[in-house]
Amino acid sequence: MSLYQVTDGVAVITLDRPPLNTLGLPLRRHLDNALFAAQSDSQVNAIVLKGAGRGFSAGGDITEFDQPDSDQEPSPRALHDHIEASHKPVVAALHGMALGGGLELALSCHARVAHCATQVGLPEVHLGLVPGAGGTQRLPRLTGPEKALNMILSGRTFRADTLAGSGLFDAVTTDDVEAQAITLAATLATAGTISRTGEQPCNMDNAQAFFAYARSTLRLQPGASTAPLDCVDCVEAATLKSFHRGQEQESNTFRNLRNSPQFEGLRHVFLAERKALTPPGKAQQVKPLPLNTTAVIGGGTMGTGIAMAMANAGIPVVLVERDDTALARALTTIRDHYEGSAKRGKLSAEKAAANTALISGATDYSAVSDCDLIIEAVFEDIAVKCQVFERLDAIAKPEAILATNTSMLDVNRIAQFTRRPQSVVGLHFFSPAHIMKLLEIVQGDLTSAKVMATALALGKKIGKTSVVSGVCEGFIGNRMLQPYLMQAGMLLDEGALPQQIDSAIEKWGMAMGPFRMCDMAGNDLGGKIREQHLVNHPQLVYSRCFIEVEAMGRFGQKVGRGWYDYIPGQRAPVPSEEVNAAVIAESARLGLQRRFISDEEIVGRLLLALVNEGARILEEGIAQRASDIDVVYTAGYGFPSWRGGPMFQAQQRGLVDVLTNMSRFANGPTYQKADVFWSPAPLLSRLAANGESLFNVQAPEAV
Ligand code: NAD
Repeated sequence: MSLYQVTDGVAVITLDRPPLNTLGLPLRRHLDNALFAAQSDSQVNAIVLKGAGRGFSAGGDITEFDQPDSDQEPSPRALHDHIEASHKPVVAALHGMALGGGLELALSCHARVAHCATQVGLPEVHLGLVPGAGGTQRLPRLTGPEKALNMILSGRTFRADTLAGSGLFDAVTTDDVEAQAITLAATLATAGTISRTGEQPCNMDNAQAFFAYARSTLRLQPGASTAPLDCVDCVEAATLKSFHRGQEQESNTFRNLRNSPQFEGLRHVFLAERKALTPPGKAQQVKPLPLNTTAVIGGGTMGTGIAMAMANAGIPVVLVERDDTALARALTTIRDHYEGSAKRGKLSAEKAAANTALISGATDYSAVSDCDLIIEAVFEDIAVKCQVFERLDAIAKPEAILATNTSMLDVNRIAQFTRRPQSVVGLHFFSPAHIMKLLEIVQGDLTSAKVMATALALGKKIGKTSVVSGVCEGFIGNRMLQPYLMQAGMLLDEGALPQQIDSAIEKWGMAMGPFRMCDMAGNDLGGKIREQHLVNHPQLVYSRCFIEVEAMGRFGQKVGRGWYDYIPGQRAPVPSEEVNAAVIAESARLGLQRRFISDEEIVGRLLLALVNEGARILEEGIAQRASDIDVVYTAGYGFPSWRGGPMFQAQQRGLVDVLTNMSRFANGPTYQKADVFWSPAPLLSRLAANGESLFNVQAPEAV
């Protein structure tokens, strides 16, 4: 391929590294060589950089970050300095996306023309990094430090037309970007003016107060990545130091963060989320079915949330309820939600009205006969599910997908209520369904490849983080929660109190400890799940404290009392003397001498309870890969992304170390059935013995 093509004295250099033009070493070398060639070509007066395919560039190659290639010349910074120093004007022509290092490359050009729909942004902070190739130094010089810092700290992507007039672009167009960039480049060459961003001043009135305020608004978890604070420091440096010194600070900060364990965890999750989107087995080779019309059966907590998740992505939904009263209640919930969002400024009034209008209601199942996808979210009762699926089977068109949002019931059994089990799939949304990111896509034994591919495409379309799970009680996430809660109960019996357990694991980084989580979900609901779990696993024990808290009517936040007391108007839960007394009495009843339990032991036991069950899930082929389990926990259960997920933690600690600790817990303070609880998953023992990694375990071929 030629390095560039010349049109009327303008050399057009194309970034061409499918699929996303990531700026790994090969592309950087190509760009650098093309620039040298264009600069010394007497036919060339000006240069345009553009991307081939779907966009300009999605940024640096994240898989290269800790490889020797990442430090090889030309480094991104050297390449950008080379562009900026060019004596022939360089114009970036942006379409599709210019993200991270891709946007930084564009910032180093002398001008930028963007198609209005281009997605631009600096997402590095989400990976625990600062933009490391001039972003924190050039963006503030173009847009002003405040706008730049907001963009950098949010890590969000923005449509180019929402940034028109910000100083970032010289033109935003609905027309041919390349043609406009060529015209602009030729004009700049004729005028002989080159504006180098790095040479521009970066002044700000009240800079000191502004940056102090910016720091004060950041709430960093102890141990979490310091990247947000570092971003503030780097942008502040742009206002205080020379461009060169600011770049030095940015480069050093980037290098330090890149070597941090927090970056390792965040990168693992970033890559794991993408890997989880690979459809299982044959589903990779089939095209998803169209999803133009959808329906949700049941307009309770989940049904209304699922309907809104669809409408938010522009998909029309019919919501079906049992009767007019229930339907009116569901539609009112939805309307109130959108009106409230518009009032709070979270959504424009037009968008709120448009979303509301996408959701229609019905009480007659005939309304769904033509739908491409029907999602059931009725009561968690197998008899009710049976009724609903028999009716759907009778009425839905032959190619329709029939999905269930069940949390615990057997998807294979539900599929058998129809004459088309190949069309039945689990779509396990989390509450509130329009907000929570995680979507477990539950593949029944007979679910077809087409249905799986379509379910994954749906997840993407509605902005969820999807993970495929096989059928088992609780699927991946809730199944792992049971041993985690059992372990929390054992800690209570042995000497810890709920608030100590919650506080230890929250300090470690979990968004919420197990008891606060139970209070949020409802202890009555938890009781039902526990009873079901014990039917299937009679060899295990839950602390009786769970039963007692439920028996006290302490159903959780919704009644103002649970493991904690909830005082109206007060956000923080208050430890309950009544519950604490019951916990202490239970230890006495068991004849256990309560002892001090360190935070380290609490965290270790809760974490390894997750790891052991995760390994079983992997071994049984319920999860396709260990990294999928990490995605479930980081996207759906408040596990800190910067710790990479439970399986990543296990691998980091070393599987031999994991087994040693499990055996220590099994043989530690006497507790009934602790040894049964801690019997290691055979997969863990095998991998540890062979020195193999959880992340190399191959899933059995599915579908
Ligand atoms: P819910 O009680 O709030 O709502 C159920 C709704 O279904 C009610 O409005 C009811 O009127 C309606 N309904 C019952 N039978 C119907 C029928 N035959 N036709 C039409 N509508 C009917 O329950 P929910 O919390 O929304 O749970 C629904 C499903 O989602 C359950 O399977 C549950 O396990 C699952 N789920 C719940 C959560 C959660 O946190 N609540 C999370 C994930 C999954």
